[in-house]
Amino acid sequence: MTKRRDETRTTDTLDRLRAEIEDRNPAQPEFLQAVAEVLDTLAPVLADRPEYAEPGLVERLCEPERQIIFRVPWQDDRGRVHVNRGFRVEFNSALGPYKGGLRFHPSVNLGIVKFLGFEQIFKNALTGLGIGGGKGGSDFDPRGRSDAEVMRFCQSFMTELHRHIGAHTDVPAGDIGVGGREIGYLFGQYRRITNRWEAGVLTGKGPGWGGSLIRPEATGYGNVLFTAAMLRERGEDLEGQSVVVSGSGNVAVHTIEKLTALGANPITCSDSSGYVVDEKGVDLDLLRQVKEVERARIGTYAQRRGASARFVPGGRVWEVPADVALPSATQNELDGNDAAALIRNGVKAVSEGANMPATPEAVQLFQRSGVAFGPAKAANAGGVAVSALEMAQNASRTAWPAVRVEEELARVMADIHTTCRETAARYGSPGDYVTGANIAGFERVAEAMVAQGVI
Ligand code: NDP
Repeated sequence: MTKRRDETRTTDTLDRLRAEIEDRNPAQPEFLQAVAEVLDTLAPVLADRPEYAEPGLVERLCEPERQIIFRVPWQDDRGRVHVNRGFRVEFNSALGPYKGGLRFHPSVNLGIVKFLGFEQIFKNALTGLGIGGGKGGSDFDPRGRSDAEVMRFCQSFMTELHRHIGAHTDVPAGDIGVGGREIGYLFGQYRRITNRWEAGVLTGKGPGWGGSLIRPEATGYGNVLFTAAMLRERGEDLEGQSVVVSGSGNVAVHTIEKLTALGANPITCSDSSGYVVDEKGVDLDLLRQVKEVERARIGTYAQRRGASARFVPGGRVWEVPADVALPSATQNELDGNDAAALIRNGVKAVSEGANMPATPEAVQLFQRSGVAFGPAKAANAGGVAVSALEMAQNASRTAWPAVRVEEELARVMADIHTTCRETAARYGSPGDYVTGANIAGFERVAEAMVAQGVI
């Protein structure tokens, strides 16, 4: 009874705090969405652990330690000058150096970077690997730009960013629009400006110059392992299941690769122009040729694949019936209507490869319908986990074989799955991975923040 009263009191406090955060961060809907999703699940842990409910702790957690915004001027191949905006939000370093990717996409603004940085705090805590949360990027659009233009942009971006990062301070990696090519240009410029071979300043490097094997694969592979673990809880297996995957970038490609290896049938992929459905299963070699080598649009895949594949311009993969759905493109790409369609078609599990791809309405529908739902903080943590392993290899000047990294990745994903499941059960929400991930991540960060005082 007392416990329920405590929970009601903390829910009231959290509602007030949420209103204050909304007032202080206008016009940042994605950030407010990410904060609301976490605050909505914290009442039981704050009621149970009064030291975490001390005034100021949750407020501090929701305010970035540092926000950096800078001008990024660069010249295109015709000599025309462009000016983009660069961001780095250093959100929380209670558990380790800030860690999180850089996103280059025209939709990037401060609110997007803050939402990603906020999510990253809990995700990184869940890995148990001693990394804080941060995120960055730019509204630069690499699509249609030559290699030389992308290089000049990356060099200009790093000319400012280098002041703020370091192996013990803040360690960026890739995200949308930032892959191996961009990390190479960024690392080169950092090395040139600082005159230091500081491998641990960026992750996602090439394997020949400090990168970890399996880092490119890790996010997609990790999400597939997490999905398999959720299905096993229900006495099911991934083998033979049909899977809809969205996106065709780093996360989607490696998701499709692992699904195929485990005997599942990934039947879709997409980009911002539409989606492809391929009843025979996505042909990974063709997909990589089209997207990674030619950097062409997804329709090209269907043109070359033959009768089994069809391109649906402007469509959403969620209308295709499947057993499992793995959103792997971008935030809010799966809404309530999409969730209803998936449920009508009998989906059993949905797991987020992208960050916050399902809207709050979609998440609620999945949970109410008994669909196993893996939230991004837990399900896509494999990427940052292997980034932390890359930092460990850099610090010890060694390179681990792929098999060792993959074993570690599997261990981390299994631990995260167990932690989320047990935490959810401990706080009265068995099977609710959203609550489990939020509370387990929060407990680890909160403990460190309380121990380190009001800073
Ligand atoms: P990529 O840039 O490699 O690929 C992104 C894919 O998503 C492309 O197919 C792109 O299509 C599509 N996409 C991006 N924005 C939109 C949009 N607004 N509408 C429709 N489609 C879109 O990025 P990643 O694969 O690295 O990242 C995908 C997601 O995974 C992101 O949410 C990212 O934050 C998350 N993530 C990535 C990690 C990593 O290790 N890379 C780690 C953890 C999470 P198009 O080319 O047409 O834009």
